Amino acid sequence: MRVLIIEDEKKTLGFIRKGLQEAGYVVEAAESASAGLTMSANSEFDLIVLDVMLPDGNGMDVSRQLRNEGFKGFILMLTALDSTRDKVRGLDSGADDYLSKPFEFDELLARIRALLRRKEGGRTRLSFEDLQMDLIQRRVQRNGTDITLTQKEFSLLEYFLRNASRPLTRTEIGENVWDVHFDNESNVIDVYVRHLRKKIDEPFPSRLLHTVTGYGYVLKRGEL
Ligand code: CA
Repeated sequence: MRVLIIEDEKKTLGFIRKGLQEAGYVVEAAESASAGLTMSANSEFDLIVLDVMLPDGNGMDVSRQLRNEGFKGFILMLTALDSTRDKVRGLDSGADDYLSKPFEFDELLARIRALLRRKEGGRTRLSFEDLQMDLIQRRVQRNGTDITLTQKEFSLLEYFLRNASRPLTRTEIGENVWDVHFDNESNVIDVYVRHLRKKIDEPFPSRLLHTVTGYGYVLKRGEL
């Protein structure tokens, strides 16, 4: 799940970024309308958290422009203006939801989860073979056994589950589970895959996480 935050107030930006990263999201940030539009044109995001007051423009215009350019993800607008008229204008400009400042971080997270559920058509679980992931309770089970994962391991497994049976390159994995500045030369993905295998594969009779030599990794049904 990739999130772009467009917000010029450094304190607010820092607090949202840190919280979302801790919740397991991949977060990028832009501090102006123009930088945000450029980033969304160059990279895919599932959600944009968009402040309404930006140094070089208005969030509502940014939202309209994003939609005109074909942005299909969610837009959650942050507004300092707690008036019905502004909320209506925000939603009319293409935003899916809004939050008035100041807000509690937990409320932002809950709104994001609600948007995600909408995207999944109410689906809150991912599964492949005997592996199950509950996206809301953040719980993983294989063959009925609970598996405890770190936040990053959970995000990595979620990405594999969403792309089950499709071989994924290290670059794809890096950009979707870490961020666009991911260093391709680092072996962090291999390290995390190894951790994940210890938890989801080794205790069980069949393997799900396979290496694709010279390419990357794939979650698929193991050969018997
Ligand atoms: Ca602002």
